[in-house]
Amino acid sequence: LLGADGSIKPTIFEELTALALEHGAINLGQGFPDTDGPEELKRIAERSIRSAFGDGGLNQYAPGLGLPALRDSIVDHQRRFYGRDLDAGRNVLVTTGATEGIAASILALVSPGDRVVTLSPFYDSYAAMIGLAGGEHATVGMRWPDFAPADEEIDAAITAGTRLVIVNTPHNPTGTALSRGTLERIVSRAAEVGALILSDEVYEHLVFDGPHLPVAAIEGAAERTLTLGSAGKTFSLTGWKVGWVTGPAELITAVRSVKQFLSYSSGGPFQAAVAQGLAYDDAYFRGQADRLRAGRDVLVAALRSAGLTVSDPAAGYFAIADVSSLGFEDASALAYRLPEELGIAAIPVSAFVQPHEARHYSSLLRFAFCKREDVLQEAAERLKRLP
Ligand code: PMP
Ligand code: GLN
Repeated sequence: LLGADGSIKPTIFEELTALALEHGAINLGQGFPDTDGPEELKRIAERSIRSAFGDGGLNQYAPGLGLPALRDSIVDHQRRFYGRDLDAGRNVLVTTGATEGIAASILALVSPGDRVVTLSPFYDSYAAMIGLAGGEHATVGMRWPDFAPADEEIDAAITAGTRLVIVNTPHNPTGTALSRGTLERIVSRAAEVGALILSDEVYEHLVFDGPHLPVAAIEGAAERTLTLGSAGKTFSLTGWKVGWVTGPAELITAVRSVKQFLSYSSGGPFQAAVAQGLAYDDAYFRGQADRLRAGRDVLVAALRSAGLTVSDPAAGYFAIADVSSLGFEDASALAYRLPEELGIAAIPVSAFVQPHEARHYSSLLRFAFCKREDVLQEAAERLKRLP
C-alpha cells in the first residue's frame, strides 16, 4: 500500500481529484454527486447533534450493531424491495460506509492463503483488503464492450477451496447490472465448492431500467451471502459514511467481531437520519434512478459525439469510453493529461484490474455522470475539443 519511496500511495480517486482541483477541471473521475441528498435528512442529523444526551441527542457511542431504529429500517427496506425476511437483532450490522463492511467482512472470513474470487475490473478496496487478509486474489474477467462474464470463466475461477466470492451488482466501474443467468451461475458454483459470497450492492437503487436483482434472492444464495448497502449512493450523502451488511446470523456475528475492533460503532446522528430516509416512499427511490439516467444520457451522448465508443451503462454512476477510436492507445497516460489539456478528469479502467489483465483495458476510461446537468453540459462542450 506504500509507494516505492515509502510514502503513502494515494488511491487513483484521490490522485485524479487532486489533479482536477489543480487545473480547475470538471471532476468526472471520483464518483460523488455534486448535489447533496435530502434537506430533511440533514435536519434530522443536525437535530440529533444539537440535542442533549438522554433527550434525543446521539453524540455518544451508538450501539455496536447500529441504532435499533436504523436496523429496523434496513429490515423494512429489504422486505419492501426484495421480499427478504431479516431479523434486526441477528441479520443486520451497520458499518462506517460500505467500505468498512467490505473490510470487516473480508478480514472476518478470509485467512492467509484462502482463495478469493472477484469480478475484474473490481472496486479498489477489494484487492487491498484481500491483500491485508493474506488471501489469494483470483478474477473473472468482464470484457469490453458488453462486460458480461463468461460462464466458463466463472466455473474456472471458482475452484474447490475458494473461500469467498465477491460479487458487485450494479457494477463499478462498468455500470453493468449482472444478469440473472450470471448470478445463478456464480451462486451455484459457489454452493458446489462451499464458498461464501459477499455481494456489494451499493448502487441497488440506481438501476435505470427495472428492478435490481439482489444476489441473496437467487435460489441457494441466502444462506451463504452477505449483502452490502450504502446511504452514500442511495441518498447522495457519500461523506456520511453510513453502510450496512445483512445476512445469516453466524456470518454477521463474524463480521461484527472484526468491526468492534475497527471502529467499534458508527456515527449516531447520521444513522438516525438514514433510518428516516430508508422509509421514504417508492417514488423517492425511483426519482434517484431517473435523475442518474438523465445524467447518463447527457454524458454518453457527449462522449459519442466527441468520437469515442461508449458502453451502455444500465446502472450506477459511470460510463466507460474506448479512447482508441480517437487514436489514443494509453488511456492511463491520457487520464493524467486530460485535467490540464481538456479541463476534465476521468479514471483509467486499468486502475481497477490486476497488472496481468491491464492489456485488456488499456484504452478504456471511466467517466462519472453523477453530476448536475449544467456541469455535464459544460463537460460536453469541453469534450468537443478532443482531437
Ligand atoms: N463499493 C462500491 C462498488 C463503490 O463504488 C463504493 C463507493 N464508491 C463503495 C463500495 C464504498 O461505499 P461507501 O462510500 O459507503 O464506503
Ligand atoms: N467509490 C468512488 C468511485 O468509485 C470513490 C470512493 C473513493 O474515493 N474511495 O469513484
